[in-house]
Amino acid sequence: MTEWADRALVLRMGHFRESDLWLRMLSRRHGLLTLFAFGGSRSRRRFCGCLDIFNSLHCRVRAGRSGFLNLEEAVLLGGPRVLRKDWRRMGLAVNCLRFVEALGVPPEGADDAYALVEDLRVTLESASVLPALLPLFFRLRLAGALGFAPDLGRCGLCGASLSGGGQFVVDEGHVRCASCRAAAGGARYGVDMDADGLDLLRHVQQEWPSGWRTGDLPAAVRHACARAIDGFVQYHLGLAWEGGHFRKV
Ligand SMILES: [Zn+2]
Repeated sequence: MTEWADRALVLRMGHFRESDLWLRMLSRRHGLLTLFAFGGSRSRRRFCGCLDIFNSLHCRVRAGRSGFLNLEEAVLLGGPRVLRKDWRRMGLAVNCLRFVEALGVPPEGADDAYALVEDLRVTLESASVLPALLPLFFRLRLAGALGFAPDLGRCGLCGASLSGGGQFVVDEGHVRCASCRAAAGGARYGVDMDADGLDLLRHVQQEWPSGWRTGDLPAAVRHACARAIDGFVQYHLGLAWEGGHFRKV
């Protein structure tokens, strides 16, 4: 038996016996984990009523011989207040949390992923306006935090700057400048993007959710960004959002 303590965020939870709970959690050092809380729905002494989705907790965990992780105690560090009453924003939150779960978070990268989800919570909780593509932005940003970032800075073939826009080639995970696009005849899985669209995606890769631009986007830019991110996530991470959950594709 080993014991450790860490900060962790509740992504999803459920009952498995009358008063016991399982929790999918993002731990700051250990990444994505499933923990069991015996008496979790009853014991206010050990869990202070803080086992709920999107809460950050300080957890004391005991690892059993079979790899089974037992949540011994938890203390609330932070959680949503107004968000729980806003079903539309809570829907966005759940979409993002499901993505964390579907993608998986290994111990390396867990610290960044944890900070990203906490910043997302603060943003959903307090920002007056949200970017229209927030769930998609989150997918691109988390993928980047875990080392899956498409290169949007320069042409993937000749290295030229992309100040005039370019074509995002989904299966290659890079952008072709106008001359390379013309020479190669356009890619099969390509999304044409102007300079503003590429600039927006680079901005999303570099900023926290609380810093993401929220201004109105021309419909063409919005569609191109959405197709590029969606295509990247499907092709490189093997996940598609369908009917309320992520499906492996
Ligand atoms: Zn080029």
